Amino acid sequence: MQQPFIKNYEFETGVYRPPSEGGSASLLVRLTRNCPWNHCTFCAMYKKEKFELRSPEDIIRDINVMHDISSQLKEISIQQGQKGALSNKTFEEFLKKSPDLYFHPGISMLLNWLAVGGKTVFLQDADSLIMKTDHIIQVLKHLKTTFPTIERITSYGRSRTIVRKPGVDLEKIRKAGLDRLHIGLETGDAALLKKIKKGATPEDHVKGGIKAITAGFQVSEYWMPGLGGKTMSRDHAKNTARVLNQINPHYIRSRPFTPRPGTIFFENISENQLERMTPREQLLEIKQTLEGLDVSSRVCFDHAGNFWTDSNGRLLLSQGYEGYQFPEEKQNLLELLEKGILYCS
Ligand code: SF4
Repeated sequence: MQQPFIKNYEFETGVYRPPSEGGSASLLVRLTRNCPWNHCTFCAMYKKEKFELRSPEDIIRDINVMHDISSQLKEISIQQGQKGALSNKTFEEFLKKSPDLYFHPGISMLLNWLAVGGKTVFLQDADSLIMKTDHIIQVLKHLKTTFPTIERITSYGRSRTIVRKPGVDLEKIRKAGLDRLHIGLETGDAALLKKIKKGATPEDHVKGGIKAITAGFQVSEYWMPGLGGKTMSRDHAKNTARVLNQINPHYIRSRPFTPRPGTIFFENISENQLERMTPREQLLEIKQTLEGLDVSSRVCFDHAGNFWTDSNGRLLLSQGYEGYQFPEEKQNLLELLEKGILYCS
């Protein structure tokens, strides 16, 4: 007899995840809602949203629903003579029987994830480590037991939250299965951090980054070229390199600054309080930052904001998730930037 379909397919999916967790088709599991800090003046992500912790029970229910969907898909696949392999035919049949899911914000993410083997997971939203340690561990263990195909789990984490969390807790969370932390450094310049209301000092960034690495996490630090405008550009470059050198993270990822409507920064630009940098000036700043780096990190430009092109109209910098290995590829990258600067107006 055909197994009845489960009626309640509700599970929560947030909006944001790093680009490197999209291209590798990560499962999005929502641990908290929005950002517990929410003051950064350049950020528009969760501005009108209230931060909320979710209970481990609710998160585990989401994981179970996603697992039920996966089981139903396998069942359909077997009925279709495909021996459990997932194809568009399987998904079409499944959605025909569960039409409400057509409108679910997370369904294509889930189907895509299952189709590529269910290997990587991203925990949403902005700062999962703010949860109680026991709760994160409970969720991580359940996730890994429910989907044994999982090979990597990552999350965003704020430097201040990492600084506050006991090292022994971080180690426990790491051992329970969280592999990588994506941290928003933005800049290593104290004055600029204060100006953008990051809620972290350069010392917090260094302490948090080193603490995360010591606990066994892979650390991915995001920096924002152009954030200080023309006036603060030199200090931004110099101090960002200095702080990154002290952390020596596994990844350094460039997210060029773009003023977004609805942010304080955007309003400042409208009032001409910030001189916007030209594409050439932005490249110069990136070059200055990279010149100051003495790290063994992978330096990545895996975001559409790294838009510069060469004289043939091709992207100047690789947007691959693994980027350029330092120090081996540093010189080549600097030469590439030099060419871009000459070509850029
Ligand atoms: S901590 Fe991150 S998500 Fe929160 S306001 Fe700052 S940039 Fe935005």
